[in-house]
Amino acid sequence: MPLVRHGALFACALVAGCAVTAIDHESGPPEDWPALAVTVHERAPEFDTACKVSSHAMPVLGCTVANFERRTCNIYLRFSADAVLDHERLHCLGYDHAGEAGLRTAWARYKEREQLRTATRLTALPGVQTIKGNGIDP
Ligand SMILES: [Zn+2]
Repeated sequence: MPLVRHGALFACALVAGCAVTAIDHESGPPEDWPALAVTVHERAPEFDTACKVSSHAMPVLGCTVANFERRTCNIYLRFSADAVLDHERLHCLGYDHAGEAGLRTAWARYKEREQLRTATRLTALPGVQTIKGNGIDP
């Protein structure tokens, strides 16, 4: 279940035993999935916080936090492992797990919110004019 908070999206916690083949290669990512700048954090101190690891959870190997607002995708890895990294990178590219649509849904909702915000701003501020100066001298 993805957690969407302040435009950030907790895409996946790859737990031990979660097969790398769990990615849905058949459906692929949404066609208009945005390009996200990927940063990989290996063995980062903030791993547990970023990956929402609870003491009762299975060992989490990695997770992906996508932020559509900032167009970033942060991958957290418990340790350096190509298979886990490949899995998480696919999430950054918009791939969901087979049988899930968390990323697809979150992206659609984000777009809806953005459209609504734009529409609200246009109607809420009728006749507003912005005059741009040359800067303020101290
Ligand atoms: Zn995953």
